[in-house]
Order: sequence, then structure tokens, then C-alpha cells
Amino acid sequence: MTMESPLDTARSQLRSAVEKLSLSESMWNTLSTPRRILEVAVPLRRDTGVVEMYKGYRVQYSTTRGPSKGGIRFHPDIDLDETVALAMLMTWKCALVNLPYGGAKGGVAVDPRGLSARENERLTRRYTSEILPIIGPERDIPAPDVGTDEKNMAWMMDTYSVNAGFSVPGVVTGKPIVLGGSLGRTTATGDGVAISVREALIDRGIDIKGATIAIQGFGKVGYWTAVAVEAMGMRVVAVSDVSGGVKDFGSIADLHDHIASGGEIANYGKGEQISNEELLHLDVDVLVPAALADAITSKSALGIKARIVVEGANAPTTPEGDRIMHDNGITVVPDILANSGGVIVSYFEWVQDKQNYFWSADQIKENLESMMMRAFAEVRQLVKEKNVSWRDAAMMIGVGRVAEAHKLRGLYP
Ligand code: NAD
Repeated sequence: MTMESPLDTARSQLRSAVEKLSLSESMWNTLSTPRRILEVAVPLRRDTGVVEMYKGYRVQYSTTRGPSKGGIRFHPDIDLDETVALAMLMTWKCALVNLPYGGAKGGVAVDPRGLSARENERLTRRYTSEILPIIGPERDIPAPDVGTDEKNMAWMMDTYSVNAGFSVPGVVTGKPIVLGGSLGRTTATGDGVAISVREALIDRGIDIKGATIAIQGFGKVGYWTAVAVEAMGMRVVAVSDVSGGVKDFGSIADLHDHIASGGEIANYGKGEQISNEELLHLDVDVLVPAALADAITSKSALGIKARIVVEGANAPTTPEGDRIMHDNGITVVPDILANSGGVIVSYFEWVQDKQNYFWSADQIKENLESMMMRAFAEVRQLVKEKNVSWRDAAMMIGVGRVAEAHKLRGLYP
């Protein structure tokens, strides 16, 4: 079995796109190198008075097409390589859906579940002040990711604004509505994943009504995907979180209430308990990995029976897992297309903050749908024209746009 890190995966996907686009070695050198990496120590005074140190990162992979953009992750296992890989993916994703952004990612290697609310706030504020010199609405715009949410974004916005001397809502997206957040941002990634599921089902000629879906991960992406696919008439038959999975669990709203009141899927009283591995191997129409990287590997890919895999998570599939699914005739809608709804509505939030003029929920929904459908049409056309996978086609468009921007801007000096 080959062990792939998310960075190996990201570089291998980039290599494949560079070759398919016949780009030069110089362009590979340019595209495969992150532009700015900041590693910081983040001290935290615990409620007990003890001071602990955590590692924090912010990687600005590219700023060629605009300010860099990407989430902030609080998770004990993050490291620099993974952060670089995720920043790289953000670069191709923003280019694929034609947003005027580069790509970034950041985070702190901490388990937020072990922090009190006040500790989380102090850690967020200190991390923000450590990366303050390189972020800003014209430079680099963070957003929530695994382990962070709108509360963290409110503290980041406040810390930045206190230092600037005035309110700067456009420094982060995914903020609460009253601080300049956008309608539709909370559900955006899930809404976009659901659009991707729908488009892939149409493509495979499978009826949307009653199509069966299994979702790995029941956080911001997994939960809102479940809500959105059910609203389209599909049926979510199983979900999981870090504690385990459950099949035939009944109502999503009831399960969500259980989680929101501190429960876990493993201790949910209804349905049939299954393992995360069993969830991946269920006989469903669509499997949505919406948790962490490397869920679909050379080992776990072998048992996948779903006809379609829609990547809600970033980098959930290793190259070997990808090859196995391709050989087994599974359609894989890649992360940079499938979960782009989040950054698209983040872009709307940033535009609204810049204009100080806020859109209606219907406007957000329509614009999200039209931007995703345009990207789908472009990817679908390339899949047919070049006879490549959806991932290769999406990467070729995203990477091709960044390469073109580099060529047109030229090399300074
Ligand atoms: P989250 O922290 O809200 O939820 C993560 C979920 O995954 C939780 O339910 C957690 O229990 C579960 N999980 C963790 N480890 C697991 C494991 N080993 N097996 C099964 N479940 C596990 O995070 P999120 O914002 O929903 O992000 C999920 C993924 O989607 C990440 O890859 C993230 O980068 C990606 N993503 C998020 C957004 C966004 O807007 N939040 C946008 C694009 C992509």
C-alpha cells in the first residue's frame, strides 16, 4: 500500500494537469511553489493560569489572480505540509470558478474541543494578531474551516479592526450576519455539494427523486449537504462523524438536534450503528466524503459500491484511491468543483462588504447556482473533448487559468 500525504496528492494532481496542458518546466516550477509561508507560535493562557504554546500557520500559495483566500483550521493533526496542500487546492478552486483570488490556508494545531469558549477566543485573537501583517481585505481573506465557525470569524474581524482603528468587515468571510456576513454563507458549501450531486446524477442518468446518499462527516459541510439533497428529493440513508456512523436514522433534524446538544453519532439511539468504513462501502447512488483528507485510499477505495463520489471534503482521495475508482467506473466530482460553493458565497460576502450593500437570499442563491453551473458546463465539455476524468478536467481549467495569469503578468524584474 502506498502512503500518500495530502501534499503528495496535491502535487501529483498538479503534475498531471501541467502535463496534460503541455506547460513548460519553468511553469511547473512556478506553479508548484507556495509564495509565502508564515509559521507562528501561539501562546495561550489556559483558564487555570498555565501558559501553553501551539503552532500556527498561514500559507499564501498564490496571489497571482488577486488576494489569497482560504479557511482557518483548528485541528490537532494539522502541519505545514497539509496546510500548503490545502492552500494549493484553494488556488485551483478559485481559478476554476473564476473568482479574482489566489489561494491560502491556515490554522492552529490544537483540538478546539478541549478549549473553553474564553480559551478559544484568546487563542483565536492571538493567532490573528500573529498573522496580522499578512492578512487584510486586499491581501488575504481567511474564512472558517474544520474546527472553526462564525464565532472565530467575529473575533478575527474584531482583532484586525481594533488594530486598524476602524471596522474592517472584509478581512474575513463566514462572519455573523450582523457583522457584515452574507445570507446563505452558512449553507453555501452544502448547497454547492448538493448541486454537484444533482448534476452528477443527471450525467449518469440516475433519477434524482429517491436517489440514495451516504455522507461521511456531519459538520458544517456534511449536515448542510444532507439538508439540501433531501430538499431536492434524494434520501440520505447514512451519515457518520468522528465517533462512528448510523444507517436508517430517520430525521436529519432530530439527529442534528442530538449533535447540537452535545451528543455524538455513536450514541444516537435511533437507526443501525455502523463504522466509518462500512459507511464508505454502502450500496448507494452517491457517496459524499465530507470530513477530512485521505478518506478514500488504495485500501478503502476497493470496497466502494457507490456509482458517484462527490468530494465535499478537501483532498479526501489519494491518487491510488482515485485510480481504483476510475477503473471501477465511478464518477468522481472533485473537491475543487464539488465544494466550491463555500468560497463562491465567501466571495459574495467580500463583495457586499466592499460595497456596503447587501443582497437578498434569492440573489445569493441564483448567483451561486449560475456560477457553479458555468463551472460544471466547462468541466463537462472538457471531459468530453479530451476524454479525461472530471478531476483532470477541473484541474486543467483551474491550473490553466493561473498559468495564463502568470504568463500575462510576466516575471519581475
Ligand atoms: P467541521 O469541523 O464542521 O466538521 C467535520 C466533521 O467531520 C465532523 O462531523 C467530524 O466529527 C467529522 N470527522 C472528523 N474526523 C472524521 C473521521 N475520521 N471519520 C468520519 N468523520 C470525521 O468541518 P467542515 O467545515 O464541515 O469541513 C469538512 C471538510 O470540508 C474539510 O475537508 C474542509 O476543508 C472541507 N470544506 C469546508 C468548507 C466550509 O465552508 N466549511 C468549504 C469547502 C471545503
